[in-house]
Amino acid sequence: MSARNSAFQSKRFLAQAVSTTPKIHDQAKPSSYKVVVVGGGSAGLSVASTLAETLGNKSVAVVEPSDVHYYQPLWTFVGSGLKTFDESKMAMSEVMPEKAQWIKDSVASFNPTKNTVVLANGESISYDYLVVAAGIQTNWGKIKNLPETLGKNGVTSNYSAQSVQKTDEFIKAFKGGNALFTMPSTPIKCAGAPQKIMYLAEEQWRKAGIRDQTKINYFTGLGKIFAIDKYANELLKICKARNLNINYFTDLAEIRPDSKEAVFNVLAGDAKGSTLTLPYDFLHVTPPMGAPDFIRASPLSNADGWVDVNKETLRHNKFDNVYALGDCSSLPTSKTAAAITAQSAVLKSNLLGDIFGDSKEVAKYDGYTSCPLVTGSDKLILAEFSGYTGQPQETFPFDQSKERFSTYFLTKEIIPDIYWKAMVKGNWDGPAKYRKLFGAA
Ligand SMILES: Cc1cc2nc3c(=O)[nH]c(=O)nc-3n(C[C@H](O)[C@H](O)[C@H](O)COP(=O)(O)OP(=O)(O)OC[C@H]3O[C@@H](n4cnc5c(N)ncnc54)[C@H](O)[C@@H]3O)c2cc1C
Repeated sequence: MSARNSAFQSKRFLAQAVSTTPKIHDQAKPSSYKVVVVGGGSAGLSVASTLAETLGNKSVAVVEPSDVHYYQPLWTFVGSGLKTFDESKMAMSEVMPEKAQWIKDSVASFNPTKNTVVLANGESISYDYLVVAAGIQTNWGKIKNLPETLGKNGVTSNYSAQSVQKTDEFIKAFKGGNALFTMPSTPIKCAGAPQKIMYLAEEQWRKAGIRDQTKINYFTGLGKIFAIDKYANELLKICKARNLNINYFTDLAEIRPDSKEAVFNVLAGDAKGSTLTLPYDFLHVTPPMGAPDFIRASPLSNADGWVDVNKETLRHNKFDNVYALGDCSSLPTSKTAAAITAQSAVLKSNLLGDIFGDSKEVAKYDGYTSCPLVTGSDKLILAEFSGYTGQPQETFPFDQSKERFSTYFLTKEIIPDIYWKAMVKGNWDGPAKYRKLFGAA
């Protein structure tokens, strides 16, 4: 990868010299681009920044409807009052690569046989290469009464920019009673986040002297607390020591705001098919998620709705000039910003190989992903692993399954800086080189 990365620089000058794409100004948007990137989130910007820099002015368009770019991993800290909401966001205009054309609209549909995307405003944009990075869809409406109760009377979620600050407010206002935390059976982004907020809330209630009056229950639609045993085993010890009850194979189905009850579908075991109803005083919901509808309905999707790409090269399995990465892709690994650091390097290498005609050296993604499992306001377990092998892929030469302050500080103070200063600018390929440097497995 590093040889290929350094080749970016020389290719950049070459591209600027030979580019046939005319320089155009913001007010004159062309309808055709060398590369169209769908989505200006973590994945889209980390790719678009390098491509725009390499291919030159306005060769790259980013289709992105939002005025604001969020660093969502910070929302665990925002929801527990350890960071402000403002620290998690930046105006899209500030992070959009200078040399890219920002098309402030949504993609409504794809027409990969004609190399075009159709925008919500009806315009058609054509491309030589397409990169799909539109994230995952949060399906709030799939839980009865959730949309109308979110942010009210103790019901909250760190998974929405609209409610994440309510989590902090409701944790601090809580006076004891039943606290429920949910995790759905669907794929979600950052599979650790539904439980991280439980550890942080429990710590606050303990410090506030109301722990004895508080029952904490975690409901997961899955059969394990975390996919990788090395970390799951430590998390189970923490739950036991801190009296956190784990309920497996239970999916939140309904909220009854008048009686303050949560209704769960039981997915396995003797009670399979029945429901379980519990009163709540505090309810942190992780909504079911899935592939975005406009991708699911397109020729780009696989049977589950994700953009159907090769898990190593990130190239589409049917359309050679289409790539995808991040949460909307079919890559069978845990959906995180950390995973995108490694994916974006691979995608850029292979796409630039296509453009410059030297696709002999194919870069391959190994499923790397990471989840900083915050277990308190001064400690965390830094899970790093390959979703392809299920094996840990740790960066540091110590056992990362143990709670540590150093990895907490790294996650809370250093990684956000790396994100804003390097990742969205296309200059952060993840920790692989440090892993080699430290000689860790
Ligand atoms: C509470 C929480 C905690 C998390 N914690 C961590 C963590 O600790 N570590 C970690 O690595 N990851 C974490 N994540 C996950 C991480 O934020 C995501 O995996 C990452 O943001 C995915 O990047 P993405 O670009 O695929 O999607 P996003 O960053 O969500 O971006 C998708 C973009 O596509 C745009 N878009 C959507 N539809 C369209 C359309 N039709 N046309 C054009 N554009 C469109 C959206 O507006 C958005 O800007 C967390 C997430 C949450 C919510």
